[in-house]
Amino acid sequence: MKRAIFPGSFDPITLGHYDIIHRGVTLFDELVIAIGVNSDKKYMFPLEKRKQFIEEAFKDEPKIKVVTYEGLTVNFCKEIDAQFILRGLRNPADFEFEKAIAHTNRKLSEIETVFLLTSSGKSYISSSIVRDVIRNNGDYTGLVPNSVRI
Ligand code: ADP
Repeated sequence: MKRAIFPGSFDPITLGHYDIIHRGVTLFDELVIAIGVNSDKKYMFPLEKRKQFIEEAFKDEPKIKVVTYEGLTVNFCKEIDAQFILRGLRNPADFEFEKAIAHTNRKLSEIETVFLLTSSGKSYISSSIVRDVIRNNGDYTGLVPNSVRI
C-alpha cells in the first residue's frame, strides 16, 4: 500500500494546495492531508475549521484522509506507515527551502519526498496572500475551494 502525506498549515487551504492534492492522489493508494500543529504559531483559522474546509473539499474522494499532527513530520510518517511526503513547488524559493527539508528528512529516515510542480496559473497563490485578502475584505473566493467560506 503506497501511502503519502501532504503536510502543511492549510491556513486556509487554497486552490494551489487543491491542485497538488487532486493530482497527487492519482500517484498513491492513500493520501493523508496532515495539518501540522505548532503551538508557537498564530493561525487565522482554528484547527477544526482548517480541517473542516479540507474534508468538505474532498468529501467525494475516498483515498484522501485528513488528520492533524504535532512534532517531526518523519516521525508522524513512521507512526502511520507513510513512505512518501508530497510537496508542491511554485518557484525557486520553494525549491531551495524544500530541498533542505527533503535532505534533512532523508538523513533522518528512509522517507522519500515527491515534488509536483504547480499548475500554470496557480503558482502565485499562497495561504498568506489569501489571509491578506480576507483581512482587507477583498474577494478571496477565486483563490480557495468553495468549502472555504467565512
Ligand atoms: P507550510 O505551512 O509548510 O508552508 P503550506 O500550507 O503553505 O505549508 O503549504 C503546504 C504545501 O503546499 C507546500 O509543499 C507548498 O509548497 C505547497 N503549495 C502551497 N501553495 C501552492 C501553490 N500555489 N502551488 C503549488 N504548491 C503549493
